[in-house]
Amino acid sequence: MALQMEDFGSRWETFFQEVKSQEIQLLTNNSIEFRLRFNDIQSWDPDFAKRILVDPRRILGTGKRILSQRCKENGLSISPDILLEHLPPDVDSDLRDIGSDDLNRLRSVNVVITKVSEIRPRIYEATWTCDSCGGDTMVRQENELELKEPLICSGCELPASGAGSTRFTLNNDRCTWINNQYLEIQELPERVKGSGQPSRGKVLIEGILCNRYLPGERVTANLIPYTQAGYHRNRKSSMFEIVYSLHSAIRESTPFTDMQPSEEEKKEIKKVAERPDLMQIMQGSIAPSIIDVTAKLKQIKRSLVMQLFGGVSRINADGTRNRGDIHILLMGDPGVAKSQLLTYMSKLAPRARFASGGNISAAGLTAAAIRDSFGDGRFTLEAGVLPLADLGIACIDEIDKISKEDKGSLHEAMEQQQISVSKGGITTQLRARCAVLSAANPEKGTFDVGPNQNLMYAFNQTGLPIPLATRFDIIWLIKDQVHEDNDASIAKHIMASRITGVPESKVEENTFENPVMKDEEVTYKKNTNGSEYLSVPFLRKYIAYAKTNHSPVLTDEAKTMILEYYKEARTQYGKDSNALANSREEQPIPISARALESLIRLAEAHARMHLRDDVTGEDAGMAIAIFSHWREEEGVGSEAEMATGSSYGQAQMNRMVMKIVRDIVSETGENAMTSDVYSRAKAMGIDDLDAVDRTLQVLNQDTQILMPRPGQWRPN
Ligand code: ADP
Ligand code: MG
Repeated sequence: MALQMEDFGSRWETFFQEVKSQEIQLLTNNSIEFRLRFNDIQSWDPDFAKRILVDPRRILGTGKRILSQRCKENGLSISPDILLEHLPPDVDSDLRDIGSDDLNRLRSVNVVITKVSEIRPRIYEATWTCDSCGGDTMVRQENELELKEPLICSGCELPASGAGSTRFTLNNDRCTWINNQYLEIQELPERVKGSGQPSRGKVLIEGILCNRYLPGERVTANLIPYTQAGYHRNRKSSMFEIVYSLHSAIRESTPFTDMQPSEEEKKEIKKVAERPDLMQIMQGSIAPSIIDVTAKLKQIKRSLVMQLFGGVSRINADGTRNRGDIHILLMGDPGVAKSQLLTYMSKLAPRARFASGGNISAAGLTAAAIRDSFGDGRFTLEAGVLPLADLGIACIDEIDKISKEDKGSLHEAMEQQQISVSKGGITTQLRARCAVLSAANPEKGTFDVGPNQNLMYAFNQTGLPIPLATRFDIIWLIKDQVHEDNDASIAKHIMASRITGVPESKVEENTFENPVMKDEEVTYKKNTNGSEYLSVPFLRKYIAYAKTNHSPVLTDEAKTMILEYYKEARTQYGKDSNALANSREEQPIPISARALESLIRLAEAHARMHLRDDVTGEDAGMAIAIFSHWREEEGVGSEAEMATGSSYGQAQMNRMVMKIVRDIVSETGENAMTSDVYSRAKAMGIDDLDAVDRTLQVLNQDTQILMPRPGQWRPN
């Protein structure tokens, strides 16, 4: 039996009576809202619940009236708003898909708030005084676009126009006012398929929901889309635009909930985490098309892996906060694939924003308060890149080209991870708990850095304010060193990827499957040189899983290692800076307490990657290795030592394994089988066969050896 309109009042009455009477008893004279889970209504009367979704304004309006009557019976003079929450999945929508079929119904969207306007009051119920009889006439004001006058006086019944008409004066004091505010919402960028721009929407908030939300916040918004006539030269036009009225919204409480892996995926994640060559495979998964020609590029990718996992942010008993995010700066000559790395990272991170210094929107990196047409001339606070990247990674390319203002405010943003705004009458703080990955080009075309000059000397050439250097946990300098071997392997790699890629036009015609879409189901992919790496969707899930489930804590062993290293580095720094006191240019990078924090973050990130809950000596070792590597300190162990902890240096391992492969191939005339390589290595006294395996991978990645078939090797 279908419900009639007039039934809704009695339905609400029964519902409140049967299901909610206890909660209603708890309301006080200060209650302004009454929250309802959709499920509470649905399990009580599915048909009624369904009707609410279709005709929310009217039915919820009736509900509010009935509720306030009940409150009156309880001796309260309140009229709480009913906020319906946790709507069923069938009203979940993408902003871009909302159209005429959705108008005036309840829809639920996951969005990030990008702009928030000032609050303005508007009249909800206007009281007009009749000039002839002095009586009052009330007129409900439907919307914010026009002020409606009465057509006839409710006292003397004179009309507002025509013969014997009266005039009305608005009685400000006796009007009911309601606050309103505009929000701009945007689809979550990580949900946007391909390279499309996330779509945006304009939301009108009225009443109690005003001033609850800040730009940069992610919410599940329950909206009622409706139309507003467009205006053309101040006249209404027949084109309508969709505007949303906010019914209720829930802030995202735990990040990455929509990325929760299934049980099967969890098993797969744990299996991958067990791999002895986890670091290798992770680092190979960062921009696989960028070939790590130098040991440094490998280290860079390794540090990017650490950034994806991040350290643990902690709130101290005194209310202060320690950030866990790892900030990385890539300084480098043009054409060394910095932009490529940043773009890839912004796709890989479960949550990220990409911006390029030259063309960042008016809101810049932090925030802007502007008056524009969006807020009908009101001041609007717009979130910049960092607040929008909250709980993710902000990839800022060409950071040397950002505005002066942004350079100034980046400081606070990176350390405090919040942005104080005090502009145009808006004073607030936005959260910006994101890791910053940025790239900087030299002011003068290329970096002019001699062999004895250090990173700070190069940093000076980016034109960035010097103190900013201390905000980065890691700063890399990538020189475009012309090197024949490297050039050859890059060229080879580029040629290979140009051949294996699917032509874009074919993907668009749907005649070929998009190679990226196919990733949804796979864990592993193969690089052009045959090495395995993790697919983007899998790695994103892995990272989200590790970040939500593991907050590793330092063990005593890790603490001691980090402290020892720090003490030694301090002493060394003291010596160096005394020796070089006269030449500012050669001052080493200061090592301060910040360095200690960076080391902890790196160690935590490494433990997290292994899905560990405590930070072991191995994690601390890796952190120290990456850290001293970027600082270009003497005595940095080579790649394999860090990866394997074996007693052989990488160079030595490389040579030995290379020789074994070469020997087998020349002796047998066949490819070398992995098992044969193992037995010969054992005979040479190498017991750590995992290290041999990793060395094979390393040599293979360096294209010094090839893998014609899985488990078979030959020199290149
Ligand atoms: P940058 O931002 O540092 O100026 P880009 O990211 O624009 O450099 O890269 C320039 C081009 O050079 C890209 O097409 C990139 O693929 C290529 N390139 C540079 N280094 C490598 C590398 N190591 N492996 C593969 N391609 C590379
Ligand atoms: Mg670039």
